[in-house]
Amino acid sequence: MAKIEMKTPLVEMDGDEMTRIIWRLIKERLICPYVDLKTEYFDLGLANRDATDDAITIESAEATKRLGVAVKCATITPNAARVEEYGLKQMWKSPNGTIRAMLDGTVFRAPILVKGIEPVVSCWKEPITIARHAYGDVYKNAEMIVPGAGKVELVYTAADGTETRELVHEFTNAGVVQGMHNLDASIESFARSCFNYALDTKQDVWFSTKDTISKKYDHRFKDIFAEVFVADYAKAFEEAGIEYFYTLIDDAVARVVKARGGFIWACKNYDGDVMSDMVSSAFGSLAMMTSVLVSPTGVYEYEAAHGTVQRHYYKHLAGELTSTNSVATIFAWTGALRKRGELDELLDLVSFADRLEKATLSTIEAGEMTGDLARITTLENPRTLSTEEFIDAVASRL
Ligand code: NAP
Ligand code: MG
Repeated sequence: MAKIEMKTPLVEMDGDEMTRIIWRLIKERLICPYVDLKTEYFDLGLANRDATDDAITIESAEATKRLGVAVKCATITPNAARVEEYGLKQMWKSPNGTIRAMLDGTVFRAPILVKGIEPVVSCWKEPITIARHAYGDVYKNAEMIVPGAGKVELVYTAADGTETRELVHEFTNAGVVQGMHNLDASIESFARSCFNYALDTKQDVWFSTKDTISKKYDHRFKDIFAEVFVADYAKAFEEAGIEYFYTLIDDAVARVVKARGGFIWACKNYDGDVMSDMVSSAFGSLAMMTSVLVSPTGVYEYEAAHGTVQRHYYKHLAGELTSTNSVATIFAWTGALRKRGELDELLDLVSFADRLEKATLSTIEAGEMTGDLARITTLENPRTLSTEEFIDAVASRL
């Protein structure tokens, strides 16, 4: 059989621990036998990030800007324990944070639905995609403990030195205070990423904030979304038969739990942090969540939402059999291959991505799955497979 040709290479970002092992198996058993795989390879494994003083992460993000589509393996974000474990020169920053800042992107997280793994919310029939704004608000705040009586003000000093003041509170006793900010440009990028992704995936966009209470801050988000939508997207949405609407966050929460799914829920940074954990747990498993970073210029980086599954990796190192779920990592590859195929007009590549996803889901639906799913499935008598056996079961169906 002739292998499927590619035109433009994918940016391939290798990673750490159990997911690095899964990465190699997926390429070797599921992709390379069928696709003449072209990638620009960047080893973002922690040892190599340390050896290159993290230059490799920046190079991989630059390559993504140039080539347009990347696929990323989960990576360790070092903490004190990792610095010791790997003998690091310093506590390197999160690669995802670095890449996100360079691509100015929005992260879209969506669950993979499969028969036998039922959402806790029984009316959810289609995936709910959370689009989380990844800049500012409480994540870049300034806070103070107020020790006792006194006045707290917000002071804006313009470039010409003029001051504008807004009273926060006249304290008569001790308390706390917090200052936050966001940027029009970042909010606009967020809006564009959401609208582009909606057109790409033919789904409605819901956007929610608390503008009735936050009449300037949250209201600014609402206004920018509305301006961008009317100026550049309203017509395309109409043609695509999809809808954009704004609603209050509490109304959105109430509607989401009664909805069927099949839409994008755009959330401010904090709301997105909290709601994505709620939505992913309610859909069944962290190991079944996909994640894609989309820049406002239309650059895509696909990955699994979970981490490097450290606990399983240590079992693996100790020579024990593991049962680690590779579905989200397989879907990161299929997402990237499909997008590359669409951009380069390679129908065979798009259709290969579809088939690999179908083979993966039908393996689970036939009762063959990893331990995390076997524990929660509604299918009777599931077979629990090891990490490698599951990938081989997908390969035989493919
Ligand atoms: P994790 O890798 O997501 O795993 C947490 C737990 O969730 C696992 O111990 C396992 O539970 C379960 N799990 C997650 N993915 C699974 C899978 N594919 N198959 C089966 N079970 C799965 O999070 P972590 O252990 O807290 O973090 C490990 C490392 O990942 C950290 O160094 C962190 O910095 C990094 N991380 C990276 C990313 C990223 O690159 N995007 C994201 C998050 C975390 P059981 O142990 O109960 O089986
Ligand atoms: Mg969180």
